[in-house]
Amino acid sequence: MAVSTAIRTIAHYIDGSPVDEPSARYGDVFDPARGIVQARVAFADVATIDRAVRAAAAAFPAWRDTPLGKRSEVLFAFRELLRANAQRFAQIVSSEHGKIVTDAAGEVTRALEVVDYACALTQMMKGEFSESVSRNVDTFSIRQPVGVCAGITPFNFPMMVPAWMFAIAIACGNTFVLKPSERDPSASLLVAELWAQAGLPKGVFNVVHGDKTAVDAILTHPGVAAVSFVGSTPIAKYVYATAAANGKRVQALGGAKNHLVVMPDADMDAAADALVSAAYGSAGQRCMAISASVTVGNAHEALIPKIRERIAKLKVGPGADAGNDMGPVVTAQARERIVDYIAQGEDAGATLVEDGRGLRVRDCDDGFWVGPTLFDNVTSAMTIYTDEIFGPVLVNVRANTLDEALELVNGTAYGNGTSIFTRDGGAAHKFQREVQVGMVGVNVPIPVPVGYYSFGGWKASLFGDLHIYGEDGFRFYTRGKVVTARWDENQTGVNLGFPTHK
Ligand code: NAD
Repeated sequence: MAVSTAIRTIAHYIDGSPVDEPSARYGDVFDPARGIVQARVAFADVATIDRAVRAAAAAFPAWRDTPLGKRSEVLFAFRELLRANAQRFAQIVSSEHGKIVTDAAGEVTRALEVVDYACALTQMMKGEFSESVSRNVDTFSIRQPVGVCAGITPFNFPMMVPAWMFAIAIACGNTFVLKPSERDPSASLLVAELWAQAGLPKGVFNVVHGDKTAVDAILTHPGVAAVSFVGSTPIAKYVYATAAANGKRVQALGGAKNHLVVMPDADMDAAADALVSAAYGSAGQRCMAISASVTVGNAHEALIPKIRERIAKLKVGPGADAGNDMGPVVTAQARERIVDYIAQGEDAGATLVEDGRGLRVRDCDDGFWVGPTLFDNVTSAMTIYTDEIFGPVLVNVRANTLDEALELVNGTAYGNGTSIFTRDGGAAHKFQREVQVGMVGVNVPIPVPVGYYSFGGWKASLFGDLHIYGEDGFRFYTRGKVVTARWDENQTGVNLGFPTHK
């Protein structure tokens, strides 16, 4: 594999400055369209994590005590800077992740939505007050920040997923240590730069890079109060168990196998558009990608040819060219894994309708390419159905009835997102009520909630109870306190009975 000569180094960002000391270990950051190493990223050891947590802990009391209006001014300034730098973010994300630059711009827009919501912190941090819960006694509740919060994030949304966490955590008065994916770490450093420009005091937002060593040091550090994780299910489970065992509050979002059910009465053109967009956008590397379709009755007869027509028109190429529809996958290992799953599907007897394995992209021979792939006649026993492939592979299962389709969706280990395409309100209503999934779409393919709702799956797609961002985000990043106060000049005398409201 070719390695370019002048290798840029991507550093940690701690206490308001990049850490420009040499690191004992580094990771490679690729240009996935060309298959070359474009930068190296420093990997944090235990001492570096400790330094970041200490910086965040030292910054906490002053940020916690900063008046709400002042905190909100910083949030608003940060929001404007994000907007002004949206294109820069899109280019950075596209160059390291591989997704098309316009797709990356969409990710920045969704990150901004969460920051918009965080700007409402003065409203969200309000408590409740009850006068006269007993004679001359009032009770009120307040929500206070928890302390140092950590975020551990996946490669597929290097801008949006960290924003789901840090925007709300910082708005609540916490300080933050972000450990972004080591595959595409640069966006988080531009975030740090913009926070500083917005007036966020140093130490409130820190970035550390690395792998399991860095993550384990965060999960076991006594100075970390809360951990938010987004990534694959096995690691989510591990993070949930380890952080909880170390006394932290934790929310850990995992992987997915999102189904789209197509009823025979659906608008088949709309369903085909939705499936192709949601299965192959970002080369299938979205936690809300549709990776399984379920055609009910004879829906497959009209739908499969329409999907094929649309696949034939997709342009696959480097993400920097906005004229392309789909970019490469993130690494050579990801490509190998996806290609191996396609072989497993063939061996298991599924019908390989479109095979993306032979795809070549001009002038990008070493890129990590897999073309759009479609299987039909897939069964629930096949690995291409049960496993999250996380690539541009759509598998179609045929069902006789809506009940059978529901049984399929509810039978999978995951429960992140799902959708139904139909013109029948009764069918849609039954589906939204009975499906065991956290985010449901009706005639929309990727039901990612807007920033003022919360995002979260069920079953193996989320460990913990609170979902991420929105109102749940404010709950996760604050602790409740209830004060019961008497201001009464008349002494009540000794009374050993349990206090009541009388
Ligand atoms: P990943 O689980 O490999 O990595 C996520 C994070 O965990 C990274 O920061 C990584 O450095 C760290 N990590 C990796 N291995 C580790 C280990 N052994 N011990 C401790 N930490 C470790 O996930 P990924 O490949 O970066 O991202 C893709 C996955 O994320 C998919 O499964 C996708 O569905 C999921 N995802 C879920 C959501 C959601 O909201 N539910 C959103 C985006 C992505």
